[in-house]
Amino acid sequence: MTQLEDFAARLKTLTDGRASAPRLKDGVMSLVLDVAGLSSDQRDAVAAAIREGALTVPGVEDVRIAMTAERRPLKIVAVASGKGGVGKSTLSANLAVALQRLGVKVGLVDADIYGPSQARLMASEDRKPQAKDKQLIPVQSPFGVPMLSMGHLVEPGKALAWRGPMAGNALAQLIEADWGDAELLIVDMPPGTGDVQLSMVQKHKPAGAVIVSTPQDLALIDAVRAVSLFEQTQVPMIGLVENMAGYACPHCGEVSDPFGQGGAEAAAGEMGMPFLGRIPLAIDIRRRSDAGDPPAAGDDAHGVAFRTIAEKVVAWLRGGR
Ligand code: ADP
Repeated sequence: MTQLEDFAARLKTLTDGRASAPRLKDGVMSLVLDVAGLSSDQRDAVAAAIREGALTVPGVEDVRIAMTAERRPLKIVAVASGKGGVGKSTLSANLAVALQRLGVKVGLVDADIYGPSQARLMASEDRKPQAKDKQLIPVQSPFGVPMLSMGHLVEPGKALAWRGPMAGNALAQLIEADWGDAELLIVDMPPGTGDVQLSMVQKHKPAGAVIVSTPQDLALIDAVRAVSLFEQTQVPMIGLVENMAGYACPHCGEVSDPFGQGGAEAAAGEMGMPFLGRIPLAIDIRRRSDAGDPPAAGDDAHGVAFRTIAEKVVAWLRGGR
């Protein structure tokens, strides 16, 4: 709210009786540009303050406020996989938390509308999004990441029997919500490469995509299909994350590699895309995910593994793409 306090102080100097109506208009217009990143509630508060302040100026009888400031375009990063169960939701949640800790203003959308899990992963199952002017307002997760999931809107456990277009509309409502000052949206895509995925990508044009794969998934070339969905639609590839890579011993933390090491990195190379990192198969990741305590919120080895991937995503985004 410091921006509002700053606004109030600047408005006061204008309305101290020294400003004439024309000067006030100029002042207010420049102030309005400052509020571009505020939520709709905060914008309403600013509008009310402008009106109240302006009406105290001699000669001002009516105030009309048009907020025309352009929002910064929200960049979307799609997290996708060729099939379910590879850890796409786990990565999306932890990536969002790690990005937030790196200072990125990030929001999270659970686009996996047939099997939403982000509300549980992010400990926000008890929160319900509000709507304002037909636009959804995201809920706040305890990790400082605003988020929206179908899991917030439908009864838990109720399978959505929606067909393509309805599913696509539901997804659009989540993505086109009032994300306030967020600059980046992590979108946990539905698994696979069907119509819902294709129309989301065509409609919302992600800035880039992260593909999640297990070592086995790579061998079965499911990941390759996910990559080709983005290639067909000209969405740049940020890179590949290998999940459930090796096995982290819950007692000593040592990671062993029953399937050998380096296969995913080599496969990423063959597909011509960067390798972003590997997350081991660790019982602690499963337990903490189920408990709504994402490892990326901490600084142990798993937290660092997610942060390293987040740093690469930030570097990629800052690379001007
Ligand atoms: P998807 O979104 O691809 O369907 P999830 O993120 O829901 O996959 O993960 C599927 C299951 O695997 C969940 O129970 C999750 O806790 C678990 N899981 C994901 N990644 C790991 C990991 N690196 N180590 C252990 N369990 C994991």
